[in-house]
Amino acid sequence: MYAIDLSGKHALVMGVANHRSLSWAIAQSLHRAGARLCLTYAGERLRGMVEELAATAPGTTVLECDVTRDQTIDAVAERLTGEWGSVEAFVHGIAFARKEDLEGEFVATPREGFQMALDVSAYSLINVTNRLRPLLEKNGASIVTLSYLAAERAVPAYNVMGSAKAVLEQSVRQLAYELGPKNVRVNAISAGPVSTLAARGIHGFTDMLKKHAERAPLKRNITKDEVGKAGLFLLSDLSSGITGEVLYVDAGYHIMGW
Ligand code: NAD
Repeated sequence: MYAIDLSGKHALVMGVANHRSLSWAIAQSLHRAGARLCLTYAGERLRGMVEELAATAPGTTVLECDVTRDQTIDAVAERLTGEWGSVEAFVHGIAFARKEDLEGEFVATPREGFQMALDVSAYSLINVTNRLRPLLEKNGASIVTLSYLAAERAVPAYNVMGSAKAVLEQSVRQLAYELGPKNVRVNAISAGPVSTLAARGIHGFTDMLKKHAERAPLKRNITKDEVGKAGLFLLSDLSSGITGEVLYVDAGYHIMGW
């Protein structure tokens, strides 16, 4: 009999904006399994909402972290070093592209827009992992990031975010290779479309939801709780032999050839 018991484990979850966030779904499943949480918020505007969610998971620490500012990442590392001493689970659910770079032609993406999207959505996984390395290596952590099929296929309107996801998925493999000897595992969940704050920035997202549900083998869209459950699996010992993997939680959509 296998059970998921994360009591005594510490989980850092980056990317919660509100109750719809995929990271929040993973945070909830980690909390239910007994893990102690630290949620980070990207800016003062989001603090109240994240604190409200944190209050539903007693014992949760809430800290600011804007991944474009290294000093905020280092402040999280410092605080968790003092408070926890180790991190066994790290959820990276962060992505951003400027609205104007998710509209119009991908070929016309300006340099600043490309750099911004890649910095926040892909480099941040590498940078945060590096800055938290002693905490993550202490007991051999599991890291999970969130990707999308646009990493490997052309998806209308995804534009520069598709490029960012391609870099993110390759970074998962490279990090998994490099950190494997320290027993740190790194995996991605490639999620089907779910209506969240970030997703609503994609032009034609509602239409995309409809097409996914029609074409996916399961004939429906996924729920954020399904991402939560897959995240829990990858962050727990049940997946101890898995690293460098992209796990599709998309009702099977990616296997289809039409
Ligand atoms: P969301 O808007 O709830 O989450 C995105 C998060 O990124 C927010 O919490 C936001 O504050 C954070 N963020 C943006 N800029 C940041 C910065 N500079 N520093 C720190 N944090 C920053 O939306 P979501 O859909 O839950 O997105 C989470 C992840 O899931 C993203 O990587 C997204 O690309 C991915 N994803 C989403 C879907 C979907 O359909 N919703 C599908 C596949 C993958």
